[in-house]
Amino acid sequence: MRAYFDNAATTPVDEAVFEEMKPYLLNKYGNPSSIHSHGREVRSALERSRKKVADILNTSPSEIFFTSGGTEADNTALKCTIACKGIEHLITSKIEHHAVLHTAEELEKTGKVKLHFVELENDGQVKYDHLEELLKAHRGNVMVSLMHANNEIGNVTDIDRVGEMCEEYDAIFHSDTVQTVGHFRHDLQQLKAHFIVGSAHKLHGPKGVGFLHVRHDKKITPFIHGGAQERNMRGGTENVSGIIGLAKALEISYQHQLDHRQHIEGLKSRMIHKLREQIEDIHFNGTSGDIQNSLYTVLNVCLPPSEDNDMLLFNLDINGVSASGGSACSSGSNIGSHVLAELKRDHSRGAVRFSFSKYTTNEEVDFAVEKLAEIVGVGV
Ligand code: PLP
Repeated sequence: MRAYFDNAATTPVDEAVFEEMKPYLLNKYGNPSSIHSHGREVRSALERSRKKVADILNTSPSEIFFTSGGTEADNTALKCTIACKGIEHLITSKIEHHAVLHTAEELEKTGKVKLHFVELENDGQVKYDHLEELLKAHRGNVMVSLMHANNEIGNVTDIDRVGEMCEEYDAIFHSDTVQTVGHFRHDLQQLKAHFIVGSAHKLHGPKGVGFLHVRHDKKITPFIHGGAQERNMRGGTENVSGIIGLAKALEISYQHQLDHRQHIEGLKSRMIHKLREQIEDIHFNGTSGDIQNSLYTVLNVCLPPSEDNDMLLFNLDINGVSASGGSACSSGSNIGSHVLAELKRDHSRGAVRFSFSKYTTNEEVDFAVEKLAEIVGVGV
């Protein structure tokens, strides 16, 4: 058996998504900017996809811009807001995905903004009192970027609360929602975020396509200059089949969200239970062990200290289990996770992130636990 537990890094494409994309790879190849019928046909499919995404998120199609994925959407929100709104302060956290963290650091390094890191609780949760202090100190001249769910440790930020706080202190709010779009419901009429982002490959869509939601009252300048595509917000011929696939993937994930959630929470709870049964002194990093209050697709396991922990992912891999040590860019390597480094934890302990999808099975969970127990070799 080979079992895949790296769905926070990427998910397999749903067959129905692939079927929806296929005609736009083979037969419907017109450029959506062309005015002839080949182009117009594709343009209307693209705009139907935009409407589908907007309807699902309860917003207007005019607020949805397709991008090459989550990273580009995060870069656009941060860099273009700072550039065109004259904002001097940026508040974020040290456990953001690098798409946000490295962008924020670059903005500070080039003198465009002063960066402030919100303090975190021992388990990585945002300290909301500290966030409020920072907001108060820079009222009216500040942008906040805090992720909805952390891709490594599954912590969920209360973005409704952050949105309320940002409104009170006249701050611009961006949330990296890459790990929650399609897994949680976002109602953009209720949520007080100016920008959210999505990435198709996290929800059984294709790689290399995503979106940026820009609230109507926070128009920004483009990040990628070129043609007039995306209503002058992103130059470059659109990734048509990718956009069709993104909209279909989002549609499927919303249609079946409760069932998928129930299935995945069952898998996670089974894994927690079996790990506790079979491995001594086991804990869970961040809040990922708390099924009700974490990103249900992620479980970050904290293993007893051992000299062999550096080889954990390699050993799991040769035993048929694909898991990760953190974000995709550090998985399989011994570069430490910047997220785990910020947690108050015993850093000699090993960590493995298992992330689940609708396709993961109980048998795969049992197999992974058995292999991990064999590798770690500290039975209860
Ligand atoms: N933000 C988060 C929280 C992520 O997990 C990821 C992907 O790992 C990204 C951003 C980047 O998304 P993409 O791979 O679409 O560029």
